[in-house]
Amino acid sequence: MARPKFKKRSHRQTARFTRTAFRLRDNGALYLAGIGEIKIAWSRTLPAVPSSVTLIKAATGKYFVSFVVEEPGEPMPPRDADEDTGIDVGLACFAVMRNGRRIETPKFLRKQEKRIAKAQRALSRKQKGSNNWHRQRVRVARLHERVGNQRRDFLHKHSTVIVRENQAVYVEDLDVQSIQERFGRLANDQALSAFLRMLEAKCARYGRDFVKVDRYFPSTQLCSSCLEPTGPEGVAGLNVRKWTCSNPRCGATHDRDENAEANLRAFGREVLAAGRKGPTDAGPGGELKRLRSADESGISRHGAASRSPRGERTEPVTTAAVR
Ligand SMILES: [Zn+2]
Repeated sequence: MARPKFKKRSHRQTARFTRTAFRLRDNGALYLAGIGEIKIAWSRTLPAVPSSVTLIKAATGKYFVSFVVEEPGEPMPPRDADEDTGIDVGLACFAVMRNGRRIETPKFLRKQEKRIAKAQRALSRKQKGSNNWHRQRVRVARLHERVGNQRRDFLHKHSTVIVRENQAVYVEDLDVQSIQERFGRLANDQALSAFLRMLEAKCARYGRDFVKVDRYFPSTQLCSSCLEPTGPEGVAGLNVRKWTCSNPRCGATHDRDENAEANLRAFGREVLAAGRKGPTDAGPGGELKRLRSADESGISRHGAASRSPRGERTEPVTTAAVR
């Protein structure tokens, strides 16, 4: 008989069950075709009848089931148009918002990620496939799972507050690669890009405006008072936390991150205003346009308009651990 084939070279395995291949029992159990009835530890109640179920065996050996459920969009009560914020994400501070509000980078992330790196090194020293190697592999997977959960909780908590309190959110268009280019290799790069994705999804869901500003927009270099590019630049400027504008007619003193947030907010507002005027005039004008980089296509606007006409969306909701 042939040896079993793995779908991929990973210890995470999944199996998907469509509508006819599963049943939810009244006693809370889940019936899966070919497997039978399994008991579930529910993490939340299902908002609607699921269209499919995925059984997941995590690398830690734990089983989870994930349900795909159609959920209607659920706009929050609208805020005033001027209740908005830029979000400057970074290394020294996780995020800086309007009025200097800050989210500090959580220490547990760095601590856990150091432990993961250490466990990973120990794994690489063990003979692949040996008992010790397997034991260490599970240890590494458990650490990953734990830090992943902590990270998710932290990001959900903060992104929900931001979306609840603001009608519009302006962020830089950063992916993992550009974060690494800008800040060098850093521990919380995954958390930063996951945070921006989460904000975008929640803005779409709750009817908020979300503006992604071109990553080459010089939010750090521009003086938010006079719009001259007198701020810290390049690698040499990475450690400059406070600076004074050298424009003789200005001379404003800035906190680096608060200044960047103010620029994102001003620019994001122009993008929104231009978008409201009509699609043919989608780009913002004025001073800020002059200072933008050559890449004019890097601005995307999301929000109420990006939802499907019926306001529905499909989201996989990981709902339960299998007991
Ligand atoms: Zn200035």
